[in-house]
Amino acid sequence: MIDQLYRKAILTVAERKPVENLVRARGWGLAQRFVAGEDIPSALSAVQELAKDGIQGNLDLLGEFIESPADCTRFADNVIRLLDAAHEAGITPYVSIKLSSVGQGKDDAGTDLGLKNARRIITKAKEYGGFVCLDMEDHPRTDITLEQFRVLVGEFGNKHVGTVLQSYLFRSLKDRESLDDLKPNLRIVKGAYLEPETVAFKDKSDVDANYRRLVYQNMQAGNYTNVATHDETIIDDVKRFVLAHGIERDSFEFQMLYGIRRDLQKELAQEGYRVRAYIPYGRDWYAYFSRRIAETPRNAVFVARGMLKG
Ligand SMILES: Cc1cc2nc3c(=O)[nH]c(=O)nc-3n(C[C@H](O)[C@H](O)[C@H](O)COP(=O)(O)OP(=O)(O)OC[C@H]3O[C@@H](n4cnc5c(N)ncnc54)[C@H](O)[C@@H]3O)c2cc1C
Repeated sequence: MIDQLYRKAILTVAERKPVENLVRARGWGLAQRFVAGEDIPSALSAVQELAKDGIQGNLDLLGEFIESPADCTRFADNVIRLLDAAHEAGITPYVSIKLSSVGQGKDDAGTDLGLKNARRIITKAKEYGGFVCLDMEDHPRTDITLEQFRVLVGEFGNKHVGTVLQSYLFRSLKDRESLDDLKPNLRIVKGAYLEPETVAFKDKSDVDANYRRLVYQNMQAGNYTNVATHDETIIDDVKRFVLAHGIERDSFEFQMLYGIRRDLQKELAQEGYRVRAYIPYGRDWYAYFSRRIAETPRNAVFVARGMLKG
C-alpha cells in the first residue's frame, strides 16, 4: 500500500510541467544511470559493453505519447534504422517497442497504423534473425495489444515476436492461458503504471504472488519465459522452481533494466543463466526516468541530491 502511495505521489509530481522542465534541463546527467545515451552508437556500445559480462541487450528507443500519425511512422523508421545499425555492427537485434509509439489506435486506410508499423519493424528484425518484444502499457491498451500480438505471431511466428504480462493486473492469469495456443514468448513483469484498484492488485504481496504464478505456469506450459524483475527473493524462488521441475536453462531468461542491479545481472550470467538487460536510449527519456524514480525511494533521494548539487 505504501509502495502504491509513493509511486502515485512521484508520478503525479512528475506530470507537472514545471517539474518536467526542471528535470529535463538539469537531470540528463542523472538519467544516464538508467538510459544508455541519446543516439544509436551509444545504445550499441552499451550492448557491446554488457556482452563482455555475458549479458545480452534488449534495445528500446524511448518515445511515448507520440501524437501525429506522421510522427508515429517516423518513430518506426527510427527503430528500423536501429535494427540496420545493430545488424551492421554484428549484433543480432533484440528490441522492444511500445505499440502506442508506432500508431496503435490510429486508423490508416482501414488498418491500425500501429499494426502496420509493427509489421514493418518485425519484417526487418526477422530478416536479421532478431526479435521484437511488444511492451505492455497501461490497462486500456491491454486488449488491443494482445489482439495485435496474436495477429503478429500468426504472421511472423513466435521466434520473432513476444509480449509482456503484468502481475499487478487481475486479468493476467487468464490472459496467459488464452495465449497458450501460440506457445508465446512472454516477459513477465510486475507492472509500472498507475492503475485503478478496479483492475489491479494494490498490495505488493498479491502482486508478487501473482508474479510467481504467472512465471511458473508459463514455464510449465512449455513457453519461453522472460523473468523480468530485480526482486532477488523471486529470482531465488525461480531458480529453485526450475531445478525442481526440470525446466531447461535455454527456455527462460532473467531480464533487468539497464543500470539497475548490475551486480546481480553479472552474478546470474556467471552462474550460467541467460541474462538480458533492457537498454533504453533516445532523447525522450523523461517518462521512462520518472517511472524508475517512482519504483524506489532510494532513486528519488539520488535524484534530489543530484539536482541540488547541479
Ligand atoms: C526487462 C524489463 C522490462 C519491463 N517491461 C515492462 C513493460 O513492458 N510494462 C510494464 O508495465 N513494466 C515493465 N517493466 C517494469 C516492471 O513492471 C516494474 O515496474 C519494475 O521492474 C520494478 O519491479 P521489480 O520486479 O523489479 O520489483 P520491485 O518489487 O519493484 O522491486 C524489487 C527490488 O528491486 C529493486 N528495484 C526495483 N526497481 C528499482 C529501481 N528502479 N531502481 C533501483 N532498484 C530497483 C529494489 O531493491 C527492490 O527492492 C519492465 C521491467 C523489466 C526489468
